[in-house]
Parts: sequence; structure tokens; C-alpha cells
Amino acid sequence: MKTFCGRANPTTGSMEWVEEGEDYDYHQEIARSRYADMLHDKDRNVKYYQGIRAAVNRVKERGEKAIVLDIGTGTGLLSMMAASAGADFCYAIEVFKPMANAAVKIVEKNGFSDKIKIINKHSTEVTVGLDGDMQCRANILVSELFDTELIGEGALPTYEHAHKYLVQEGCEAVPHRATVYVQLVESRRMWSWKKLFPVHVEAEDGEKILVPPSEMESCPGVPSVCDIQLNQMPSSDFSTLSDVVTMFSVDFSKPVQSASTYYRVQLEPVKSGKAQIVLSWWDIDMDPSGMINCTMAPYWVKPSSALQWRDHWMQCVYFLPREEPVLQGEKLYLTACRDEYSVWYNLQKAREGENKTDEEEHKDVHVESPVCRCRAHLLWNRPRFGELNDQNRTRQYIESLRKVLKTDSVCLCISDGSLLPVLAHYLGAKQVQCMQPSRIDCYHPHEFWQAFFKANHLEDKIKIIEARPELLKPSHLEDKKISVLVGEPFFTTSLLPWHNLYFWYARTAVSTHLASNVTVLPQSASLHMMVVEFQDLWRIRSPCGTCEGFDVQTMDDMIKDSLNFRESKEAEPHPLWEYPCKSLSEPQEVLTFDFTKTVPQHCLSTEGSVKLLRKGKSHGAVLWMEYHLAADISVSTGLMQLSNEKGNCEWNPHCKQAVYFFSSVIESEILSDPTAVTYAINFDTKTGEIAMDFKL
Ligand code: SAH
Repeated sequence: MKTFCGRANPTTGSMEWVEEGEDYDYHQEIARSRYADMLHDKDRNVKYYQGIRAAVNRVKERGEKAIVLDIGTGTGLLSMMAASAGADFCYAIEVFKPMANAAVKIVEKNGFSDKIKIINKHSTEVTVGLDGDMQCRANILVSELFDTELIGEGALPTYEHAHKYLVQEGCEAVPHRATVYVQLVESRRMWSWKKLFPVHVEAEDGEKILVPPSEMESCPGVPSVCDIQLNQMPSSDFSTLSDVVTMFSVDFSKPVQSASTYYRVQLEPVKSGKAQIVLSWWDIDMDPSGMINCTMAPYWVKPSSALQWRDHWMQCVYFLPREEPVLQGEKLYLTACRDEYSVWYNLQKAREGENKTDEEEHKDVHVESPVCRCRAHLLWNRPRFGELNDQNRTRQYIESLRKVLKTDSVCLCISDGSLLPVLAHYLGAKQVQCMQPSRIDCYHPHEFWQAFFKANHLEDKIKIIEARPELLKPSHLEDKKISVLVGEPFFTTSLLPWHNLYFWYARTAVSTHLASNVTVLPQSASLHMMVVEFQDLWRIRSPCGTCEGFDVQTMDDMIKDSLNFRESKEAEPHPLWEYPCKSLSEPQEVLTFDFTKTVPQHCLSTEGSVKLLRKGKSHGAVLWMEYHLAADISVSTGLMQLSNEKGNCEWNPHCKQAVYFFSSVIESEILSDPTAVTYAINFDTKTGEIAMDFKL
């Protein structure tokens, strides 16, 4: 079987599919998997163990043998818990081959090989019978197949099938049930991830206001879940309009139906405001009584209880199709629609004196999954919407453009989904053209731009060049030379901060079209680095050793091998506004990239050391880019602010930063003789990638 792995090439801005050989062992999937995070989730593990013990006891008390079906066993953890709790036999199903192999080793090492059978299959392929995978149906169903949206990893069809074919009627299930909760909120910050707000530009001939096309107003957006660490959202960034409401629950001990359906609840706003967002999370009861409960409720819901940090389960943000003004105390209906894998929401007002019959209710429920009609949601993802709506940032670009543009400027903008061409036009550039070079095979942004230009009476004012930078011809530019070349830079295929250096490659490719006195904006970029201690993020890459008394070191070793296979010396992207950390060193500029010149043939490398100035654990280094737009105006895609006493960091909320986890953690203690971390960083101009190495 051939395996293809997609990777963006930062020197061409396009996605490339690399065919991996027979020996491809899913190293990237393992290295970046969430298994370590789950094994570090103490709250989850303890409660599963309690729930499993209780279920085994209930079965034993009935005088039955306890036969367990563990779907998606991963490391084998839940089966080992069941075997320890006295289960007679466990069938542990795991579809992902490298994990199934690891589970065999872990189960053996912990001495459970005679009690646990690992079956490397998808659960829907498992057979029951004398010469089947399972000798008989199980009477305890254990599994952990949930994502932040609960059902996104296919829990419903898996349970549906298991009840039909793999477990006995009246079986025990751990967890016993899941419940989904919602709360209606107004939040300019979160709403800015869904809609483009009007952009104000002070032009020569008065104020111009850029508006989105009208189709965006009621566009339902895209169905993909927006999952975030809601506990990092300060309460000043949203206002709750309703109490927390139970939306729906699923009983896993009974036959489960996965077919599309909807649930409706009545709401009375506790406050008047603009209903924009539905925040949602779930909890699971490990036993029927509900005494063993594991919840994803955010900080303001149960302020007294300790929050368990986890990254494999967060909270969901759902965007209503359109903003709805609501009044305190009025009657509203909130509908959750779902298909097998995803959930979406609708809000309706109850009309005066109305008592809907079931049939009437059914009529106005939109069960089709949301599809973007305005096309902007295909062009811009949620953080990108947030970035374009960031007025501070826009102001900096406007100021810089104003400094460099003249009335005879011939301006070319190279960036994906950028508003810079429109800003350049308003600020007086004579000719404005743009290129959006990243290739997303199935999507051409043309129709969106046509609608956008039309809404702003800009047809004919801005020309989109379809060619890639290396194929630019003088005719595309009406035989003129470019006097101002601009970019944010932003490209949709960028994963790591420095992938936006594709702008430099594109600038190099269009060199022959640049006027001799061309202005390039940004004029340069710089790479910055800082050593940090993470509050929690370290868990996702840290070995577990033992988990609830079970030796899972085999898993640690497997992750380490995979990291060493390719990932070492490579950083990974994380949006750090969601993952607090404290700086242990000063931020340091480590490389600069001069956009006024072409990309050099040779690599750019640097070596040096940073001093650890604060007491703490050095988990890794964070790296980010800063763009120098014009004299005195720079934008940072990483650190925005650093408070000096404690080292608390504020990160750009729209961007992912690069995190390089150190292979071992050092604790710095004394400040009189600070420890130094030495680094070597290399930007390979041939590949556009940055490799790095740190020594503690
Ligand atoms: N049970 C483990 C791992 C949970 S992660 C623990 O609690 O620590 C979920 C695992 O289920 C993944 O390894 C995934 O590959 C597997 N999986 C998901 N759906 C499955 C299915 N229908 N059949 C078999 N394995 C499945």
C-alpha cells in the first residue's frame, strides 16, 4: 500500500504530495499524536478506572463473567484497567497498526497477555463466533472515541455497530452517557472569526469604508468544528446571554442511532444583547448514577473546582448563521442539528402566543450541514478572519503604505486573500495588481473577489493576475515596471512562521519586473527566539512512564523514535495565546531576511547562546517572525508584550508560533550565574525550511 503525505513547499507556495515507501511507519502521526496528552490526563484516567471497576463489579454481582469490549484501545490502558478490576477477558480493538503493535507489547510487559486479546481491526470488521475474533458478545463496552465535539471521531456509528453486533443487550458501558451543554454568548472577538467587519481607511479624498459582500451577512460558514482552549478566553472578551443549558445526551449502554437528527431547547436570555455564538462542551458520566463525572466545563461554570488541563478535549465555538438581537426574558428556541460526525446550531424566536406542533417545528429546522455560500469562508479560515479584522494591524499597514505610495505608483501585491491591494488603491496608487499564489487545488478565489470588488465599487480598479510569480510577463503589468511590491506576507499553505518567507521567493521570481528604485514592503523580516517554561503544553511531548500504575514506557519509546525519525530539529506550530508560558530568556533576534535583495544561493545560519534569566523549567524555545514594513513600523506574528517581573507573555492571537521542544528539561535556579542555552539555527534557502539544534 502506498502512503502519500501532504507537505507545503515554502519555496513554491504550493502543496506537494510526497509518496512514502513501504517502510513508512507513520512517524509523523505518532510523533504528533495526542496519546501522550491522554496519558497525562489524570482526571480522565482516574475516572475511567473508577467507572470500569464499578461496571466489572456490577456484572460480577449478577453472577456473570465479565467480558469486555474495548474499542480503540490505543496503548491498551482501559483493557488493563478492566483486567486489574477482575474482568475475565478483554477484546481490545485498535485500527491503527503501529498502536495495535505497541498495545501487544505493553499488555505483555504488564503481564496481561492471557486476559487481553489485541485485535488490529476497525471495530466494524470484527467478527463474533467460535472461529471469529471474539468468542462471544461482550457484556461490558469500554471506549474513548471522543473528540472536542464529542462525535467528530465517529463515536456514534461505532457505538451503533457495536450494539448491533458485538455486545449483549443490557450491557454495561463505560462511559455510561455523555451530555452536551451550550451557552449563548455575544463576543466581538469570536464573531470576528466568522465575519469581515467594515474596514475604515482615511484616504486623500475622505474616509472610505470597505464592506463585505451582502451574502456574507447570513452565510452559515463552514462545518468544520472550531475547537479552542476556552479557558484562555478572558471573561472580558465575551458576554453570556443565557444560562448553561443541556442540549442533548447519549446513553452508550443502549442501542445508539447515528443517523442525522436535531435537538431543540427553549431559552430565555438572562440579558439583552446580540446572539452570535454558541459555546459548547460536554461531560461524561462513567456510571449510571452520575457519581463519576468527567467534565470539559470552562472556568466560569464551576469556579470552585480544579480544572484539569488537556489538549485532546477542549471546548467548541459555534457561529450562528447570522447575528440575532435578543431581549432579556424573551422566548427563543435553540436547535442543534447533527449528522454522524458534526454538530451545528440555529436560533429561532418564538412568535407571540405560539405553540408549535411537532410538524410545524420540524418545518423550520435546517438539517443540512452548513455550506459556505459567500465563498469567503473558503478563502479565509477563522484565525485569518480575526487577523483581517484586527484594526491595529490594519492601521500599521495603512500607515506604512501611505509612506511608500506615490500617485504614480505601480503596485503589485503578493499575498493570499489580502486586503492590501484595496488599501493601496484607496491610498492613491495609480495601478494595483495582485497575485494570490498559494494553490489550493479545489478552490479559486475569483468569484469571491468579484463579489467583494462589486460591493465596494472597485470593479476594474484592481486586477488579479492569474499567473504564478515565475510566469509573470510584462503584458500582465501593462508593460510597466513595479515601483512598489507589497505583501503582508501571508500564504494559506504556510504552517510554520517562516513559511511566509515564500514572499521572498516570489519577490526573487519577479525581479526582472521591478523598477530599479522599487520599494519592497515589508523591506525585511526577522526571526526571533525565546526560551520558555510552559504552564501545560509540555505535557503533549513529555514521556509518561507509568499511567495509573501501568507501565506505558513502550509508548514513550515509540514516540521518541518517531520524533527522532524526522521531526527532531524541527519545530511545530501552536497558537500560543491558547497555551500560556513564561519567558526564561530575553527574546532574541536570530536571523534577518532582506527583501530588498533576492534569496541568496547559500544557507543562512547562526549560532549563539541565550542566558536563562528566570527561575524555571526550560521546556523549549518559541520562534516567530517579525516584518519590518517601513521605517519604525514592524508587525510581530509572535510576541506582542512581555511583562518583565514574571515573564508573562502576550502572543499574537491570530498566528501560530513555532515551538521547539527540548529533548530534556533543565531547571534553572540561581540568577547570579545564569545558565546558557546554545543554539544553532540554519535556514536552508533551497528548501525554505529552518533546522535548529539546542544544547543545554
Ligand atoms: N483507549 C485508549 C486510546 C484512546 S484514543 C485510551 O483511552 O488511552 C482512540 C483510539 O481509538 C485511537 O487509537 C484510534 O485509532 C482508535 N479507534 C477509533 N475508532 C476505532 C474503531 N471504530 N475501531 C478500532 N479502533 C478505533
